[in-house]
Amino acid sequence: MKITDYFAKSLGQTLVSFEVLPPLKGGSMADIFNTLDPLMEFKPPFIDVTYHREEFVYNKRPSGYYEKFAIRKRPGTVGICASIMHRYGIDAIPHLICGGFSVEETENALIDLNFLGINNVLALRGDARQFEDKFIPETDGHKYAVDLVKQINDMNHGIYLDSNIEKGTPTEFCIGVAGYPEKHFEAPNYSQDIEYLKQKIDAGASYIVTQMFFDNKKFFTFRDACLKAGITVPIVPGLKPITKKYQLTSIPRKFFINFPEDLVNELLKVEDKDVKTLGIEWCINQCKELKTEGVPCLHFYTMGDVDTTYKIVEKI
Ligand code: FAD
Repeated sequence: MKITDYFAKSLGQTLVSFEVLPPLKGGSMADIFNTLDPLMEFKPPFIDVTYHREEFVYNKRPSGYYEKFAIRKRPGTVGICASIMHRYGIDAIPHLICGGFSVEETENALIDLNFLGINNVLALRGDARQFEDKFIPETDGHKYAVDLVKQINDMNHGIYLDSNIEKGTPTEFCIGVAGYPEKHFEAPNYSQDIEYLKQKIDAGASYIVTQMFFDNKKFFTFRDACLKAGITVPIVPGLKPITKKYQLTSIPRKFFINFPEDLVNELLKVEDKDVKTLGIEWCINQCKELKTEGVPCLHFYTMGDVDTTYKIVEKI
């Protein structure tokens, strides 16, 4: 079923959903099932599975020189989606990125998804590769997520890259895109970022999932700004509890978000062992307020931490 249909059928009730990462190469589906089995109690209608492009690793050779390899440490997004759908009978949403894909490879990936009965996709640009200071698309690849959305939308209208295909079977992808309550770090300013987000919606995306945030005011401001810009699709808040003190610096560095002063002050006061309890409590309060505000769904970045996610969701 399309993700937007779940929202439409929920009759104003807030749903919950989870995002999982493919296990590191060498891991197994048990890693994913161990995370998801306990969370199924909360009846998530869908699970997101992230996509990870290749990374560079350096191996030291006997000569002392280093050899550079490109490897994908977390492959398996599509297989995991199919397995989730098979095991739990719910929808799985693969993340699809522009980085590392030519337009033809993208088309072929979408055909695979379509044939597998996966008809939801989160369309993203992806980040710069490790050791590159900006995102570089493939020569024949998409530069921005909006271009990927356009390609998927074309396929939904039976338009494939090969112009000789006159009556291509239309796909039925429901397309989600990313939004940033605290602005994407590369955008020149907040309103321009919203304008680019609007372009993704106009190109065919049907809902937005946000970057994590710890201050609900940022989300409400973002939601208002979207509405003002004419974006009326469902906006799903992305949530992650803080569980360790070092995340006070690692999360802003990686995700370009700010922690609210109250949270930082409280976290700095407590001992390391108490950080998780406080982070869980903070996230529960965030969720309760977001629910009261009528968000369609609370989307949790589990990052494999089932225990923490469970403790939050059981309280909301
Ligand atoms: P875009 O929408 O293309 O935006 C990128 C930047 O370009 C922004 O600054 C935007 O303002 C600007 N921009 C957009 N359009 C234009 C234009 N036409 N002209 C000029 N500038 C423009 N990454 C992964 O690798 N794998 C994942 O599975 C993954 N999952 C994610 C899930 C969520 C919910 C979120 C929020 C992010 C996820 N990411 C993932 C990270 C994401 O790939 C990065 O944040 C990336 O830097 C931007 O992706 P985007 O789709 O928002 O890009």
